[in-house]
This record gives sequence, structure tokens and C-alpha cells, in this order.
Amino acid sequence: MRYISTRGQAAPRGFEGVLLAGLAEDGGLFMPQTWPSLSPDEWRALRGLPYAELATRLLLPFMGEAIAEADLRRMCQESYGSFAHAAVVPLVQLDERHFALELFHGPTLAFKDVALQLLGRLFDHVLARRGERITIVGATSGDTGSAAIEACRDRAAIDIVILHPENRTSEVQRRQMTSVLSPNVANIAVQGSFDDCQDAVKAMFNDAPFRTEMKLAAVNSINWARIAAQIPYYAAAALALGAPDRPVTVCVPTGNFGNVMAAYAAMRMGLPIERFIIGSNRNDILARFLAGNDMSARPVEPSLSPSMDIQVSSNFERLLFELLGRDAAATAEQMTRFRAEGRMPVPDAAWRAATARFHGFALDDAGTLEEMRRLKRESGYVADPHTAVGTAAARAHPGPADVPVIIAATAHPAKFPDAVRAALGEAPALPPHLADLYEREERFTVLPNALEGLENFVRAHARRNA
Ligand SMILES: *Cc1c(COP(=O)(O)O)cnc(C)c1O
Repeated sequence: MRYISTRGQAAPRGFEGVLLAGLAEDGGLFMPQTWPSLSPDEWRALRGLPYAELATRLLLPFMGEAIAEADLRRMCQESYGSFAHAAVVPLVQLDERHFALELFHGPTLAFKDVALQLLGRLFDHVLARRGERITIVGATSGDTGSAAIEACRDRAAIDIVILHPENRTSEVQRRQMTSVLSPNVANIAVQGSFDDCQDAVKAMFNDAPFRTEMKLAAVNSINWARIAAQIPYYAAAALALGAPDRPVTVCVPTGNFGNVMAAYAAMRMGLPIERFIIGSNRNDILARFLAGNDMSARPVEPSLSPSMDIQVSSNFERLLFELLGRDAAATAEQMTRFRAEGRMPVPDAAWRAATARFHGFALDDAGTLEEMRRLKRESGYVADPHTAVGTAAARAHPGPADVPVIIAATAHPAKFPDAVRAALGEAPALPPHLADLYEREERFTVLPNALEGLENFVRAHARRNA
């Protein structure tokens, strides 16, 4: 499998190059040159496989020349063996035709574990073979940091340093990061805001000598391997509900569009996903685009679903590339204009092609709490606020009555106890593997928001075993 950039100016490369590069040199995102496609009989043959085996078979066409099948199988088994549910990604029926696809049974209780658990192992495997080490540096407002730490802890070829704003994450979020005492993991509580953390990380990546010395790397959501690793759960759900002999609809509460992109990829591989419904909170750029071709960024506003507080959905570029008939020059022109002006008029034909399959819906905080109450009342289901945005979006676009709707349940309700308490009057209990979270020892270093001191800390951490 070869990968090409959505902006057409980076040399095509194989999976290993895409995994290690993340972003292409021309600022674009990597896409498979062709989509691997399965026949209906091939899909039927995957029904009922254990999740790790399903993932191995679906991911092999994307990685095959870089990762041996037996190695991929072992990494999938290790990744998904760490999940707290025997089905890994169980499907829970909410009413006649709506099903929650629970993606939150991994170590940090959010769907990012599904991809990152595998990504950490893929990185380690490839780096060991090359005899290289990397230092992962990231900024987090809470969720991404813990998933990255769990993915990289104890990996031989990786050191990881995560910056979070001191006293500005929830206690659950902080403890999920700071109670990981593995020697290759370090947490910095920066005396500043999340934006300060993000600016510091950007400055480290822009400091070329430091970047080279530390072999800095990121595990952000534009890495194609992360998207690929999210394809198998849509396949698992669709197959369980009758695909390929019955179409399904997929509904995703989204921020960066990555999780939607994985569902789109599953469709391109031949899974009969008829419609895609996209849920947003009050940061509703995608809903405005689909409703009226208004792709214009507004300031980000905080909401009850903070992992979707995003105005520039970086993975949307991949869909745009597809909508524009894979015209890289046109994609590059659109994206350059969007960066410069904060808005882009998508060509009418491409917008119409999007609205034929994709439907958007935006929900404010009051609506989110009401939807959480409705789910509890009508289905006895306790949803986190992100998932509730998804179920409300699905109800806003009902579609044909005989097509089941798969709703991505992206976080465990215990990860957002304040929102659940506000909606239902009671906070959910942490699942057994995290029940002692509040008693665990924590380790982190408080540092002022000053680049030199932060870089010195990263250097000391990465060098301790060099
Ligand atoms: C990251 C995240 C999202 C958004 O995922 P995208 O891939 O950016 O669409 C939604 N819900 C939760 C709980 C998340 O952690």
C-alpha cells in the first residue's frame, strides 16, 4: 500500500513512512492511494471473529508491506486484551433501531484508546527494528494526554512528556496521567493555561536543534495509522447488525472528524454504510457546513463535551480531498485559503456530494443534559455528554425505519462525573480497573510557563537512560 498527500507535493510512501511522519511535508494529510476493498462474501467470512482477529485482517492491507501478519496479530491481541470488556467494543441496544457502540472500555475510558493502544506498539515495533528512539511531547487539556501516556508507557523505544495546565484539568483526568509511574513517562503541570501548554509544545517543535536532538514526535489525530485503527470497530458493529446484507447508518459525535473519517474508510472498503450523521456541540462548524456550505471558523467556546470543543476539524481535509475527486491542487488551494481567511466556500458540486451522505446536527449544553435524562428515562442508559450529542444527532435525522443506526459512544460516563451529576443527580462509579484511582500515588513536576526550563526538563527526562 502506498500513501499520497492530500496536497500532492510530498513523495508517496509506504506505511512505515506514514506512521513516523504524521503530517506530510507539504502540510497535507496522507491517504491510501487506493482503498482496499472486500467483496460481500469476504465481509461475511469476517462475521463472529474475535475483535483482535477482525482488526488484524482489516488492517493488514494498510500495513502489510511494513508489518508482518504475525506481528500485527500479536500487537492487536496485546492492545485489545487490555480492554475491560470481553467484546472489546460491545454494542448496546437503546431502542428498536439505535445501538450504542461502546468504544470506552480501554484503560483511559475514552475511544482514543482503541487506536492509541495499537499505535504505541506499532511505533515501538518499527523503532526497535530501526534501532531508533523518539521522544513524544504533547499538550493536553485532559483526555488525549492520558490515552497517549497509556499507549506509550513502558515502551522501550519511546519517552513521553505530557504538559497539562496546573489545576485546570479535572481530578480524574490529572490522576489518569500522573498516577502512571513508568520510568519513560513524565508529566509537567505548567503554571498557565492549556493554550500556554500548546504554545510551548509548538515552540519545541519549531526549535530545530532541540527537535533533532530529542527526536521529537507527536501522536496526534492526523496520523493515518490512528484513522486506520478505528475502522475495525465500525466493521464489527455493522457485521453484527447484518452487513453486508443490510445497510447501516453511522452516527459520530465529533471534533477533529477523525472518527467519522474511519467510518467513511470502512464504507470505501465496501461496508454498506448508507448515511453518516455528525454530532457537534455549540462549536458547530461541521453542522453549519452541511446545512448551508458555511465552513467558517468561529472562536472556540467551552462546552460539557470538551473533547469536541474544536473549530478547525483537521481530518476534514481528508474528506474534502475525496469530495474534490482527489484533486490535490484544488484541496491545497482550499486549505490555504481556509488557513488565511478562516473560511472556505467549498465548490457547490462537492458540497452537494457531501450532503447526499452526511448530515450534521449541533446541540447546546442544555440540550445535552436533557438528552442524557431522556436516555436514562427511556432506556436506562447512562451516557457521557459526548455520547449524548451523538444519540440526539441520530434522532434529529431518523432516516429509513428499517436501517439500524450505530452511534459511537466515545467516553465512559465516569470520565465526566460533573456533567452526569448535573443531568441525573448522581455521579457514576469508576469501573473496577480504576476504582482505586483516587488513592494512587501521583508523580508530576510543576514548572513555570517558560520555554527554556520546559526544554531542559524534557532533555533530562529523555537522557536519563541514553
Ligand atoms: C477525542 C474525542 C472525541 C472527538 O473525536 P474526533 O476523532 O476528533 O472526532 C469525541 N468524544 C470523546 C470522548 C473524545 O475523547
